[in-house]
Amino acid sequence: MMQKIEHIGIAVKDAEKSIQLFNALLNQEPYKKEIVESESVQTIFYQNGPNKIELLQGLSEESAISKFIAKKGEGIHHIAFAVEDIVAELKRLKEAGFQLIHEVPKDGADNKLIAFLHPKDTNGVLIELCQEKPNI
Ligand code: ZN
Repeated sequence: MMQKIEHIGIAVKDAEKSIQLFNALLNQEPYKKEIVESESVQTIFYQNGPNKIELLQGLSEESAISKFIAKKGEGIHHIAFAVEDIVAELKRLKEAGFQLIHEVPKDGADNKLIAFLHPKDTNGVLIELCQEKPNI
């Protein structure tokens, strides 16, 4: 089940500048900064009520975020939904005809298992599913 919008991902060119901007906008500091090496991306997280804002800056030309900005400019990159069981949800969506970018969930930022759906099936909006990693 899609529980709620967990976060909205925003592609930014310059994380430090965007932190200044979002600090002023939300009147708070980010609660986390994390580099995801496998994606070559810097992430910055803000809590906003039950939801989060994730700023994403590509750390190399090959990063999907850098490519997104080169093509479309800065702006909303994806919407992430929290799910209880990401494997079950991916199975359900695949059976419903959605194209999955990740058939198998992978490690994402902020202690999450994540997977993306192809935006061509979702009105051009990149959709992320994320599940809180169980505490071991
Ligand atoms: Zn995300």
